Amino acid sequence: MKERYYPLSRYLKERFGRRVQRVTLYCGFSCPNRDGTISEGGCIYCVPETLLPAAYSSGMTITEQLNTGTRLLGRRYRADKFIAYFQINTNTYAPIERLEGLYREALRHPQVVALCISTRPDCIGPAVLELLARLKEEKHLWIELGLQSAHNRTLELINRGHSVEDFLKAVELTKAYGIEVCTHLILGLPRETKEDMLHTVRLVAELGLWGVKFHQLDVIRGTRLEALYREGFFKPLELEAYAECVVESLELLPPKTTIHRLCGSTPAEHLVAPLWSLDKERVRKRIEELLKERDTFQGRLWNKPERRQ
Ligand code: SF4
Repeated sequence: MKERYYPLSRYLKERFGRRVQRVTLYCGFSCPNRDGTISEGGCIYCVPETLLPAAYSSGMTITEQLNTGTRLLGRRYRADKFIAYFQINTNTYAPIERLEGLYREALRHPQVVALCISTRPDCIGPAVLELLARLKEEKHLWIELGLQSAHNRTLELINRGHSVEDFLKAVELTKAYGIEVCTHLILGLPRETKEDMLHTVRLVAELGLWGVKFHQLDVIRGTRLEALYREGFFKPLELEAYAECVVESLELLPPKTTIHRLCGSTPAEHLVAPLWSLDKERVRKRIEELLKERDTFQGRLWNKPERRQ
């Protein structure tokens, strides 16, 4: 039986006829929420270095990172096609000529079939979208926009430095250029109830976004979130509560929304809590079991087809 949800891996197989893996790229970009433009602290949970692949050394070019990533992941997953994933920090936060040079370098790699650009809702505008729309003519491409929560009080609490309205504007603009959007959501943010989280998912469902990435809230060593956690300001979700939230979120999403991730993964040396998140496979299995136990599936409660993209 097929999955009870629509994972990105299935979408990629349908589109490219084979397994396609993501290669994380680091371009040395900063983030306006960390460099003082918006704030200096960044989001209270963020440590970008935790995303950096261990095999990379400093100063590697995009081509060198792609050569390393495709060799290692190709061996591990028996894959020969890859997505160049501009993942670390804000990947549209640089002059347009520099962006074009880096994106094109990735596109030239013979094993790259798609580009994925991760950024903030307040860091995309007509110039970068016009560039991406041109590149999309050459290879498959999408944007990842962090939302995390559709509640401004939470965005303030976690110091995102943008509002829900900024996100809505960014989505509208990106869609106007014919570019697909995947959004990131965090489940278990401080002071949010399950109903708050499902409200966020309903908004994403109504926008008809192409993709969604779910993350549990991981407390990473050295962050302001760690201080709040140690003060007892909030408790991370238990695995069962997280799995329930993901299952109920999937029910609300359109069946065709691609699910890019069911949970995040923080390296053990950086993680403070919750420790269950170290076992990604266990989390995935529990979510799939719960879908089966409840005999439910992605889109079961989604009934507004006229709102699809
Ligand atoms: S916008 Fe992204 S890179 Fe910037 S501080 Fe927040 S999570 Fe970190």
